[in-house]
Amino acid sequence: MSSYEENYLASRPQSLCKMCGKCCRVVTTSLPYEKLCKMRDENDSGACDFLSLFEPFDSVESARKVDEETVDNIINLLEQDGNFPDEGITFYTCKYLRDDNLCSNYENRPRLCRYCPSTPWSIVPPGCGFEGWLFWKREEVKQKIRKAKEELIELKLLKKKSINDDMLKKITTVEQKLQKNIDAYAKYGSYMW
Ligand code: SF4
Ligand code: SF4
Repeated sequence: MSSYEENYLASRPQSLCKMCGKCCRVVTTSLPYEKLCKMRDENDSGACDFLSLFEPFDSVESARKVDEETVDNIINLLEQDGNFPDEGITFYTCKYLRDDNLCSNYENRPRLCRYCPSTPWSIVPPGCGFEGWLFWKREEVKQKIRKAKEELIELKLLKKKSINDDMLKKITTVEQKLQKNIDAYAKYGSYMW
C-alpha cells in the first residue's frame, strides 16, 4: 500500500458517517458473482470476507426495491465510464445489518468494512456523509499527479543540460519514481489529468 493510501485511511474522518446503513444494504463489486465464488473456494481472503457477509439479490429489480436510488446511481456511473459489465451486474446485501441501520457484527467486522470507503474513488451511495470529503481527496491526488508531470518536464530539460553521467543517473531515478506515482493512478485516469 502506498503512503498516500495509508495516510488516506488514517485521516478518514469517521464522524462524517451518518450511519444510514446504505453502504451495507445494497452494494456491488467489480467482479462477477461466479468469479467471487471461485476466488472464495481458492481461499482468497477478500472474496472470503465479502461472501461471509454479503448475500446476492436474486435480481437487479429485487435490489431496486430495497434502494432504487443507490442501484440506479451505480448503474449510471458504470455506464457513463463504459464499465458496465457484459455479463450483467449482481447486487448484494449484508446479513449483519440491523433494521435500525447499525451493524450487529461491529466488533468483528472485517477490514473491508473498517476501511470503507477505502479509496477516494470508492462509489458511495447518494447522500453518504463522505461524498464531499472524497471529492477533495480525489482533487488532492490530481494535484499531486499534475505536479509530478510538471517535474518530469523540468527534469527532461535538465537532462539536456547535464553532461555528467552521475547526474544523469540521479535524474533518471527521480523520473522513474515520478512516473511510478502517475502509473499507480492510471486506472483512475491519471494520464488525462
Ligand atoms: S453510506 Fe456513507 S454515511 Fe451511510 S453508513 Fe455508509 S459510510 Fe456512513
Ligand atoms: S458487517 Fe456490519 S459494517 Fe460490515 S457490511 Fe455488514 S452491517 Fe455493514
